[in-house]
Amino acid sequence: MSNKSAKAGGELHDVVIVGGGAAGIATAASVLARRPDLDILVVEPQTKHYYQPGWTFVGGGVFTAASTERDEESVMPRRAHWLKSAVAAFAPEANEVILDNGERIGYRVLVAAPGIKLDWGAVEGLPETLGKNGVTSNYRFDLAPYTWRLVQEFRGGGARSSRNPPCQSNAPAPHRRRFIFPAMSGSAMERLKKQPSSFTTRAVCSSESRIMSRR
Ligand SMILES: Cc1cc2nc3c(=O)[nH]c(=O)nc-3n(C[C@H](O)[C@H](O)[C@H](O)COP(=O)(O)OP(=O)(O)OC[C@H]3O[C@@H](n4cnc5c(N)ncnc54)[C@H](O)[C@@H]3O)c2cc1C
Repeated sequence: MSNKSAKAGGELHDVVIVGGGAAGIATAASVLARRPDLDILVVEPQTKHYYQPGWTFVGGGVFTAASTERDEESVMPRRAHWLKSAVAAFAPEANEVILDNGERIGYRVLVAAPGIKLDWGAVEGLPETLGKNGVTSNYRFDLAPYTWRLVQEFRGGGARSSRNPPCQSNAPAPHRRRFIFPAMSGSAMERLKKQPSSFTTRAVCSSESRIMSRR
């Protein structure tokens, strides 16, 4: 494979990775560790990178939300090229991706790692009540701290925690929450420990399964 070169109408890279999240960054680092000569372009529009598994622990009061956030630049492998832009479409017949400004970027190998998009609106009324009224989710950076606040302020009366069907993003995460809370001390924890059955709401699964869709 060759290094970056001009292609009629745009750039040509050995590898183009769409998305600089955990998958995109890990792929770039892994490939470059074996083939440092490759020209790898990571297309990622966000300037922040998130350690999503940490949000479970933010909701459990173990991590701060800030500790799960990094500058994208700081996690980008040194030899990878970062293009701060979004891919709007794929053109596999031409081995190209089309950016949201219309520019076309050519590749020899494409890695598509744009993550998943959570469709909160698939559950009626959920977007309106998330983040207030005692409704929260550890699947959002901004809401995980609210989970911890709710745990601390819990005074009894019922706490419900849903889990995901196996096909969803990290289905075991809600189970972990179930174990994190009871393992902690404090009066709020003592109250939650007395309500173990409130962490097994299978009934919510069927509606939650509609939340996730592919980007
Ligand atoms: C609460 C929680 C707990 C979890 N716990 C675990 C765990 O314990 N173990 C585990 O293995 N996994 C866990 N996961 C799952 C894990 O975090 C995810 O699977 C992983 O972060 C997904 O990485 P990704 O790179 O595929 O997606 P993301 O990290 O979402 O990254 C996708 C990137 O693509 C970019 N992007 C999107 N669209 C475009 C576009 N059009 N053009 C260019 N870029 C684009 C986005 O800006 C984003 O930066 C957990 C997830 C959550 C939410």
